[in-house]
Amino acid sequence: MTVAVDRRTAVATLAAGVWAGTRRGSKAAPAGRGLAVKSVERTTVRVPFREVPARNMDREIPHWRYSEVTTVELSNGVKGHGESMLYYSWGVTDDRDVQRVLRKNPVEAMWDDSLGAGLQTALFDAVAKSNDVPVHRLLGHRVHDRTPVAWWNIDTSTEDMVSECKTALAAGYTAYKTKGRPWFDVRAQIAAVRNALPESFHIAFDFNDTLLDADRGIPILKELAEAPQIHIWETPIFQKDVAGNLAIRKATPRVPVAMHYGNPPPAVVAKSGCCDGFVVGGGASRVLQQGRFAGQMKMPFWLQLVGTGITAAWSLHFGAVLTSATWPAVNCHQLYEHDLLADPIVVKEGTAAIPEAPGLGHAIDWNAVETYRVEKPASRPEPERLIETTWPDGRRLWTANTGRVNFMLKNARDGKMPYFEPGVDTRLVPDDGSPEWRRRYDRARREAFFEG
Ligand SMILES: [Mg+2]
Repeated sequence: MTVAVDRRTAVATLAAGVWAGTRRGSKAAPAGRGLAVKSVERTTVRVPFREVPARNMDREIPHWRYSEVTTVELSNGVKGHGESMLYYSWGVTDDRDVQRVLRKNPVEAMWDDSLGAGLQTALFDAVAKSNDVPVHRLLGHRVHDRTPVAWWNIDTSTEDMVSECKTALAAGYTAYKTKGRPWFDVRAQIAAVRNALPESFHIAFDFNDTLLDADRGIPILKELAEAPQIHIWETPIFQKDVAGNLAIRKATPRVPVAMHYGNPPPAVVAKSGCCDGFVVGGGASRVLQQGRFAGQMKMPFWLQLVGTGITAAWSLHFGAVLTSATWPAVNCHQLYEHDLLADPIVVKEGTAAIPEAPGLGHAIDWNAVETYRVEKPASRPEPERLIETTWPDGRRLWTANTGRVNFMLKNARDGKMPYFEPGVDTRLVPDDGSPEWRRRYDRARREAFFEG
């Protein structure tokens, strides 16, 4: 899907850039000179989850509702937009980041990943719009005209997983990424998906190393891999366990192993072949650097840039220029009731078109932003959550939020969580105001405990 450089647009770009600069700057100013960041505005929004994601996200990461929409205005009057998820982004823009770019040339500033997601994206959007080109023209040569996008959910019950897979399929998606967790019955999940979804619908399980080691993990992976829908294992065991990951690759050769880029170091991956591909995320400079390494290695990866539709639109542009961005991107905007876009990203047979309109190529729905606008929380909201995990023999494990983001993972890594047993189920227990609920919550906050 190689695309030739569009000469007409290239000429239009040059004209717009030069003339915009010349009209407002000094007479002899070269293109871009005289362009400066005039203002930066940030708006906090709390975007509701859809029903099924809400039920499941509320156990562990309810704070994913909070995002900050960032708007940059340049000296030419052009505005650009971006977004930082307040409690998840690889980098959140803060007041000092804003001070660092004011009155600066946006082109000089925009490759600095330390500005955070919202500000960096907004600068790219504004610079691209000022030059009448889509963002991907600033990132490199377009090599794909469509790019794969996955549907995402945190771990859910079997019923919720099947219903979300069906919703994804109906929305044009062909790939679903979720968590593989010892507190849900992964065998039952896959058996249900196998019956309910076509073979062409792909599932990626991210275990976040909860299979712990190859010896224990391989029998389970072999069982799951019998379902044709199983498509990728992400971080089945600790990524630094090179020998263990090699053993897993050998044991289930049909299913590639994905690892978050960087651990083990890329040189070790290249030499050992301990994974098949990568998860790539972060700022523009980092994403291009990692994506190009994968390209050189002829290893696939997926883009993991998470937020509402604003971030998803940003992600599409990286999908345009990186040859190896052939695994479906994880953008998570399907979680929300509204993606904040005026013209949503349309997925067809698993892929979305690369935007060709100037900037991000997807306009923001400002009515939606206004609807969900809230005061920025002083810190990450931590609603009280009591979680019950049950096994068919009557064992019950109680876990509560502890202020740590991955408080459920801690159970698995500490060996407290029984290992991927059949029939296990997990739910959020609503506070019914009873002394029993309070007692269990207070105790579980200190440490997860069994009480059958
Ligand atoms: Mg992961």
